[in-house]
Amino acid sequence: MLAVIVVRGGALPLGAHESVSECEGRAALVGSGTAAAAFDLAHVARELTLMEVGEFRPAAWAAMLATVLADEPMLVMPASPDGRDLAPLLAAELHRPLYAQALSISSDRVDLVRGRGTELHSIEPASTFVATLQPGVRGVDLIEATTMVRTSVPGLVERDDPTIEQVLPPDAATIDLSEAKRIVAGGAGLDDQRRFQQLSALGDVLAASVGATRVITDRGWVGHERQIGTTGVTVDPSLYIAFGISGAVQHTSGLGQPQHIVSVNTDPFCPMMQLADLAVVGDANAVLDALLEQLEAPMSETAHV
Ligand SMILES: Cc1cc2nc3c(=O)[nH]c(=O)nc-3n(C[C@H](O)[C@H](O)[C@H](O)COP(=O)(O)OP(=O)(O)OC[C@H]3O[C@@H](n4cnc5c(N)ncnc54)[C@H](O)[C@@H]3O)c2cc1C
Repeated sequence: MLAVIVVRGGALPLGAHESVSECEGRAALVGSGTAAAAFDLAHVARELTLMEVGEFRPAAWAAMLATVLADEPMLVMPASPDGRDLAPLLAAELHRPLYAQALSISSDRVDLVRGRGTELHSIEPASTFVATLQPGVRGVDLIEATTMVRTSVPGLVERDDPTIEQVLPPDAATIDLSEAKRIVAGGAGLDDQRRFQQLSALGDVLAASVGATRVITDRGWVGHERQIGTTGVTVDPSLYIAFGISGAVQHTSGLGQPQHIVSVNTDPFCPMMQLADLAVVGDANAVLDALLEQLEAPMSETAHV
């Protein structure tokens, strides 16, 4: 199997490391800044092929990759936004089936998530295929050394790709939760749906996205796409702030490995407080009110606090 990773300006997409591990360290990096991105894969990639082809043009790249990778029977991409764009086009160019949103991929079995995360379908794959791997569920295998090969690729042919006018930085409020670097999340300890508007305001100040537990999405207070956990989204932020969340395993198993966890809870012994780097024992609603008041106050008023 070979992982095909889209690189933009030297940056790897979410799930790149896991896709490379799923392919036992074999990968092709395609895009701009591939040499810089290769350093991020040290101790994960065994054999790297670099294809420096400039800005992302999914249709033209699919045509080029179909030629260059025709002899690779099994191609795997992270189910990142670019991977999800490129994979179906490449599968169509190669006349192969596409297995989208897989949890695990091998030559004799592919596990696929279906039914909005409620169903697991195991299938016996075709002998050649293109698949996308769900980020955040597999983990990474470390290896000793990486061999790098720079490949010259045939010139890109004109295809019906959109023209990119401008690339804007992601908006934390609307970014796919799975890609958010900071998350403020609420659980049953919050007393009213309007608390999620407050979480959103806090998220604006902290450049963080809003997440929730299943209790909250079952109440319809926020959409299912905001639910973190086994039957929701798998996330991997560096900062996670939990307001009134107990830390049930079905929630924390979707949490990745945040560098910093802050938990506000009335119960100092619940699992989320045990996981936290900073555990605040108190009413999450009152803490949220106070925090917003502080953050919204002019600097002169808060300087002496
Ligand atoms: C098959 C299955 C799949 C599931 N999938 C998911 C999933 O994907 N995601 C998910 O989140 N859950 C999932 N669950 C549900 C999960 O088991 C928990 O029930 C849920 O995560 C609990 O959410 P919670 O922490 O908001 O609520 P609770 O567990 O009820 O915890 C509320 C917390 O708030 C605290 N609290 C109460 N009042 C206050 C206050 N005033 N201030 C501060 N803290 C307060 C309490 O001490 C408690 O710790 C799943 C369950 C099953 C069976």
